[in-house]
Amino acid sequence: MKLNANARFATKCLHAGQQPDPSTGAIITPIFQTSTYVQEALGRHKGFEYARTQNPTRQALEQNIAAIESGAEGFAFASGMAAIGAVATFLRAGDHVIVSDNVYGGTFRFFDKVLRRYDLSFSYVNMADLNAFEGAFTSGTRLVFAETPTNPLMRLIDLPAAAELSHRRCALLVVDNTFASPCLQQPLTLGADLVLHSTTKYLNGHSDSVGGIVVATRAEDIEWLRFVQNAQGAILSPFDSWLVLRGTKTLPLRMAQHSRNGMVLAEFVASHPKVRTVHYPGLHSHPQHELARRQMRGFGGMLSFETGSLDGARTVLNHVRLMALAESLGGVETLISHPATMTHASVPVAERNALGITDGLVRISVGLEDIDDLKEDLAQALDRL
Ligand SMILES: *Cc1c(COP(=O)(O)O)cnc(C)c1O
Repeated sequence: MKLNANARFATKCLHAGQQPDPSTGAIITPIFQTSTYVQEALGRHKGFEYARTQNPTRQALEQNIAAIESGAEGFAFASGMAAIGAVATFLRAGDHVIVSDNVYGGTFRFFDKVLRRYDLSFSYVNMADLNAFEGAFTSGTRLVFAETPTNPLMRLIDLPAAAELSHRRCALLVVDNTFASPCLQQPLTLGADLVLHSTTKYLNGHSDSVGGIVVATRAEDIEWLRFVQNAQGAILSPFDSWLVLRGTKTLPLRMAQHSRNGMVLAEFVASHPKVRTVHYPGLHSHPQHELARRQMRGFGGMLSFETGSLDGARTVLNHVRLMALAESLGGVETLISHPATMTHASVPVAERNALGITDGLVRISVGLEDIDDLKEDLAQALDRL
């Protein structure tokens, strides 16, 4: 199992970072559930000293995801938020950060309620508007934090344009690629400096692990992340590393089917007389459909739609049977949720309304069930509107 330097995406998903276990030939990287490693002599060891610092299962996952994100090295953390916490250590007191508006609710909460206490400031801008984006830079802007497509409105940011603008102002461009996954979008190849994920979502893909990862390309960023991962200690466990490594093997297959089901369900919802607007980048009606075609290799399984009122949303959410009412996304099973009271409850009401995250908005993470079953389930719920 030697991986060519020019191996294609699906091959990398299966093999990157993984060798048969040298002691047994086990084809699957074992779960190295150990806290320490015996040294042969003083100062002589196999590169593993203490499991916060190095773990072979975690290392295999980090190499795997670095390869599929077209980066150099990856660093796995205990959650997506812990990965974002590690990225925040690139900042120093007094720095300013530009953040894409309608960013993940937990990210907003962390920036607004925690990091502002450390003399850091944040501006939330619609990065689709390049003039507004450019106008948000200050002399202290050190980092640009972008999420595309955004949650739950599926707005896009033109990543090459964002990278050009960020670099002209000497800021790092960090992209949260959780919604697209590296299968559909590779920010590092479009100019981003760092890419991060909540592996909880599509990378693990089976709704049975919480984790995060940051992938970097430049030596100085890699050195800092390695230092911080060990210093701060919010590492991903060996078992979770193993689960995510199992997940990435089928990422291309899953994303292809999430995208197919997503497209059909988005068209179906859009054709329903009671639904006002559907947000899905694969639809021609999406304001950035052309950008999506240019920047992404598929449109994924996330969509949201407007029912017009809280009552409307409640009717749909309480009457689906196959779709599960739950937060989170990116798993094999279809999840349906209410952003205003669930994922975005920590965003102030005025801000939520300004963004379009209304009380009537319903979000679906389209899973891998037979599409006709999903359509039937949603149809009987929508017909009650
Ligand atoms: C879920 C999510 C996170 C946070 O990840 P956790 O693993 O829940 O800590 C960050 N960004 C996006 C886009 C997410 O969907």
